[in-house]
Amino acid sequence: MNPKHANNCEELRSRFEGREAIYVEKGVLQVRVNNISSGRGFVIRADVEEIATAGLGVGMFHRPPLGAGPLRRSIAAGYLTTFSAQSWQMGYGGWSLYFSPEIVQAVAGFAARFPENADPNEGYKEVCRLLMELNAYEPTRLVFSDAVCPGSGKFRMSDSPAIGVQASSGWVVCPYCGKRFALFDSRRWDGERHTTCGQRLIINAA
Ligand SMILES: [Zn+2]
Repeated sequence: MNPKHANNCEELRSRFEGREAIYVEKGVLQVRVNNISSGRGFVIRADVEEIATAGLGVGMFHRPPLGAGPLRRSIAAGYLTTFSAQSWQMGYGGWSLYFSPEIVQAVAGFAARFPENADPNEGYKEVCRLLMELNAYEPTRLVFSDAVCPGSGKFRMSDSPAIGVQASSGWVVCPYCGKRFALFDSRRWDGERHTTCGQRLIINAA
């Protein structure tokens, strides 16, 4: 990983590891964020675990209260992921996390006042409005800054030299990140790069 990306990942990890946050993804949960890690390529991961909070989750996290343990999920973000002093976004419309203690408290306090039979989707919209009022959507910057063209937001050519690799029945194991992908999968292979990690490859047909 290039030093700038490594620094950003480390900054993000040291800011947010182990902290409580408001998790927003077509719904809202209060969570704790653990195990923030990055490895090769343009990927950074974390585990989120729900903190039981009266009135949450709303939206797609609404579920019957009986017998349901805390939700746990592993999240991963790619080259469009962004962060700020108090927030972290997957990018391109995925999840967002808001870590400011004032915002976490305000959302938890707000949700606690939801009536028992409140519409969960209405609750989600109300929390989004509250986040807007609280200025939760602060300006962000890219974690993998120079992997993205600033104008278009498109994935940019990796600067590292191309690596030759042997294809087998249209499949390739990327020698850089170790992930296996199909050459016909345009989400993974753009004809020049493995778009998961950004490495340029020269494909040698078997
Ligand atoms: Zn790769």
